[in-house]
Amino acid sequence: MNNFEKTRNKKVSEIIISLKVVYILLCIVSVVSNNGLTLEIKNIIIMYAGTCIISLLIIIYFSWVYYYRKDYINNSPKLIDIIETIFLVVIFVVAVVSTGAQASYYKLVSIFIVLIGAIQFGKNYSIALAVVSSLSILFIDIVASSPNMKLLSKYFENDLVLISALFMTAFILGMYVDTERQHSKELKELVNKDELTGLYNHRYFQDYLQNNLEDAQKQNKQVSLLFMDIDYFKNYNDINGHQSGDLLLKQIGKILKDSIRENDVVARYGGEEFAAILPNTDEENAIEIGEKIRSAIQNTEFVGQENQPNKNITISIGVSSYPTRAISKHQLINTADDALYRAKSFNKNRVESYHSVLDDLCKRMDIKEDTIKSLKTFINMINLKDRYTYGHTERVVIYVKWFAQMLKLKEEDQAQIQIAAYLHDIGKLEIPEEVLNKKGRLTNTEFQMFKDHPEVGVGLIQNIKPFESFVPLIKYHHERYDGGGYPDGLKGQEIPYLARMLTIADSFDAMTSNRPYNVRKSHEEGIEELRLNAGLQFDPELVEIFIEMLEKYKENF
Ligand code: GH3
Ligand code: MG
Ligand code: MG
Repeated sequence: MNNFEKTRNKKVSEIIISLKVVYILLCIVSVVSNNGLTLEIKNIIIMYAGTCIISLLIIIYFSWVYYYRKDYINNSPKLIDIIETIFLVVIFVVAVVSTGAQASYYKLVSIFIVLIGAIQFGKNYSIALAVVSSLSILFIDIVASSPNMKLLSKYFENDLVLISALFMTAFILGMYVDTERQHSKELKELVNKDELTGLYNHRYFQDYLQNNLEDAQKQNKQVSLLFMDIDYFKNYNDINGHQSGDLLLKQIGKILKDSIRENDVVARYGGEEFAAILPNTDEENAIEIGEKIRSAIQNTEFVGQENQPNKNITISIGVSSYPTRAISKHQLINTADDALYRAKSFNKNRVESYHSVLDDLCKRMDIKEDTIKSLKTFINMINLKDRYTYGHTERVVIYVKWFAQMLKLKEEDQAQIQIAAYLHDIGKLEIPEEVLNKKGRLTNTEFQMFKDHPEVGVGLIQNIKPFESFVPLIKYHHERYDGGGYPDGLKGQEIPYLARMLTIADSFDAMTSNRPYNVRKSHEEGIEELRLNAGLQFDPELVEIFIEMLEKYKENF
């Protein structure tokens, strides 16, 4: 429910509650004032005290309803609403009987019952109430008049007029309320839906997620989020035209809708990005649903898919969960986006869940909270600036992780090389974006900027105590095995072991991913290039082990 709806419902509840309170107090006053005249003082005091207590209870009850019952304005009555209505009818009968039965003017207050019913639940409910109120009036007339039936005809005529008024009110007001509700329901659909795909839109997604998380927090439940982005969609648009692109978005929207469960909500988050909110779902189940969606799209034949880089239309999916991976809406979206980013950086068409590799590593190395924070800031800055390498840092981290496992390095070295991999390009922060993204040849000054990045990186971190141990790795990741590298021209074993490993992983990813200044090589071509440069640029022994590692993990690329 959005804020606009909440305000509207609050206002309608105010009207209904005011009507109910006024009606009940009116009935009570009628009973008290009529009977008070004939009672002794003592009984009058008791009666007034009782009246005050009942009024107080009624006010407390309706205050509770006002502040705590969110579903008071609903399309169908609940048991508590029916009990409330029965109470309204009973005190109506009591008020009429105690103020003169068939002769009572209080019969008129039955109009309140019908009004309340119409505003709260629409036409059917108010007509039912008109029937009950009319029967009560007729019943009182008959019982009170017998055996003198002459009296009945005297009041019966007036009561028929009243009953007609009750039915007219029930019918007209009830119908008006129904029409207004239907209309606002249709408007809501229009405002909340994306025109092209028929899925919910970004606004609805944000509202729904907010409410869902609030409920999950109160009820101690989990919520998972899937973030999805079509792979190489720009390419599809470029080759097949935007209209075909639109059609594809529609088809994918349909597959998403068909793949989720009844209580899940799927929305078009933006251009070619979708998001699904999965209430009551933990990460494991969310990954399963993500995998179902991924394979459904992979296995569907789309027009023009043969022209895509992977000869298929595919989708990448990031998963995160509340409260295990994130504790706020903002964090949940960010972590799911982060997971999607990771799925994209590793060959796309995959489902990735959010886990902070960095947090795990820092824990293993006993690095403190605030140092982790500054480390993350650095990494975010590099990622923002160096977006063209799209996941370069993440891929290098994964390569060195597998590489270090393959070499059976000590736990501490394994963590150290992975954090260094996160930081290795930090010195590029000082290179202007246009130089970083330049397609043509670099001038001498520009080339020097690139050559300086390892030392600039060292300058940025050397004064942060826990980062000291990463200095040699960052400084020497562009040294060459034959001594022709920079900044110090170290040779062979003079280059730290972990730095030699990092050079191989960094260079391999640079060769096999899209860079502004070179054409992407296939894995086989990359391996060939590594072998060609073994002993020149790279440590020859390490090159062979790196290639073995690529072979072992090849299904992950
Ligand atoms: P990646 O695999 O990394 O996700 O690359 P991509 O090409 O899918 O992503 P990118 O963000 O580079 O391009 C998204 C494209 O989506 C660019 C934009 O023209 C297109 N797009 C966004 N909204 C619409 C739309 O409503 N209709 C159509 N036809 N295209 C859209
Ligand atoms: Mg995109
Ligand atoms: Mg895309």
